[in-house]
Amino acid sequence: MPDQHETALPLPWLRPETSADSAPAPDPIPHDSGALDRSALDLGDPDRGDLDPTDWPAFRATAHQALDGILDHLATLRDQPVWQKTPEPVRAALRTGLPDEGEGIGAVLDQFQRLIQPYATGNTHPRFMGWVHGGGNVAGLLGEMLAAGLNANLGGRDHAPILVERQVIGWMAALFGLPAETGGLLVTGTSIANLIGVLIARAAAAGPEVRRAGVEGLRLAAYTSAAAHGCIPRAMDMAGLGTDALRLIPTDKLGRIDLAALEDAIAQDRAAGIRPFLLVGTAGTVDIGAIDDLAALAPLARREGMWFHVDGAFGALAAFAPKLRPLLAGIEAADSLAFDFHKWGQVPYDAGCILVRDPALAEQAFAAPAAYLRHEARGLAGGAPWPCDFGPDLSRGFRALKVWFTLKTYGAAHLGSAIARTCTLAQDLAARVDAEPELERLAPVALNIVCFRYRFPADSDRHTAELVADLQEAGIAAPSTTTIDGKLAIRAAIVNHRTRAEDIAILVDAVLALGRRRARG
Ligand SMILES: *Cc1c(COP(=O)(O)O)cnc(C)c1O
Repeated sequence: MPDQHETALPLPWLRPETSADSAPAPDPIPHDSGALDRSALDLGDPDRGDLDPTDWPAFRATAHQALDGILDHLATLRDQPVWQKTPEPVRAALRTGLPDEGEGIGAVLDQFQRLIQPYATGNTHPRFMGWVHGGGNVAGLLGEMLAAGLNANLGGRDHAPILVERQVIGWMAALFGLPAETGGLLVTGTSIANLIGVLIARAAAAGPEVRRAGVEGLRLAAYTSAAAHGCIPRAMDMAGLGTDALRLIPTDKLGRIDLAALEDAIAQDRAAGIRPFLLVGTAGTVDIGAIDDLAALAPLARREGMWFHVDGAFGALAAFAPKLRPLLAGIEAADSLAFDFHKWGQVPYDAGCILVRDPALAEQAFAAPAAYLRHEARGLAGGAPWPCDFGPDLSRGFRALKVWFTLKTYGAAHLGSAIARTCTLAQDLAARVDAEPELERLAPVALNIVCFRYRFPADSDRHTAELVADLQEAGIAAPSTTTIDGKLAIRAAIVNHRTRAEDIAILVDAVLALGRRRARG
């Protein structure tokens, strides 16, 4: 019976138990197909010193081939393995010295297509379910490419790209029910957005002089749940407050911060003369996607005089889906909110966002006058306030364009239905796991994350880790793992808009097949 199941897998790359080492190794570096136009080898004239093409029509042809190549790749994802390990000859080919003489754009593009494209993370693939990675989208691809063409610096000054970023910030503030004056920035990701939130909270609590005098002697404490992302303690560390000043409050059965334990911890700190200054709620925990009771946390933070920051890295964008929106009740009361466009928002990496209810407090935490950055009332140096006054970066790319392309091309409703569908698929996966006696579900499904495992008779953690590596190396699917109540779990986070019911079936069939094979020993 088990064998029948294995052969039923519709996957050419799930090979029988022959080890990859004994099989004849396929040539890991496909040969140059000769399809690329080598006449575009020359870019710029070294004697002249500029970097523009000497032959624009030839470069244009190569540029079109580059775009066609990546679109072909995206259009045929289902025929490809989710992931394949970068073979040693490819690694060696990528380890070369800095070229002194240029190789030309045609040769570089050719190397991209042969050495890099086949061996990427795999998160564009519909069966990538590891960690919480977004799938990207083609409108965002164009936005990213065109932003590179404009090469705008969004640190400040008066130009349309800054208006686009402000528009994106305004849209998101409205989506979350924050006031129209809300400020914010697009940043690399939620790790940095959370750090910015902590730094603003620090200056709000200790006053702007903390930037000069440092934090010595301040007895400040922050609170978040034990299920919070590791970048929250890291933000405390980087802000100089130390991870000891962060209280990790236990969670309830649903993975949400335990309110009674939180109030106890605050009371204990107050009794010890320590000042509670920051409460970080999570909308979508990394392990299981739980959403803290934000509607209860907001008034508690206000009552205690604490800054209320929400880490909504992936979960906050549930706001695009009308059915899921009520789960976020209370988010509109956040003093600051961090989230990613590059996860559920499907914007190509990287694109995170920090929203700040009162932008004057962000300015107080970051603005630094410098003579050469003088803001003027008119001319290119106008356009105040400048983004560099609200965060740590001075030079900033036009990250907002790929977000703007994505939001305008698809609209909130379409993105919301893609997000809602991943949650439906997670419910379907949970139901299938619950129906299979050989499988065991390890956590409730709040949003789009399902944690489960094969019931191995012994040595379960080791077998589970190996099974997940088997799945990944076979190119079938790429879930990741996490630990739930001391047990290693297969963690499937359905984030990609391309994932369908058939992909869930392939994942479960493969887990059963590989689990049986391992259980037989
Ligand atoms: C992913 C994630 C982060 C970190 O975001 P990056 O964009 O990877 O920096 C923080 N918090 C939560 C809850 C996350 O899921």
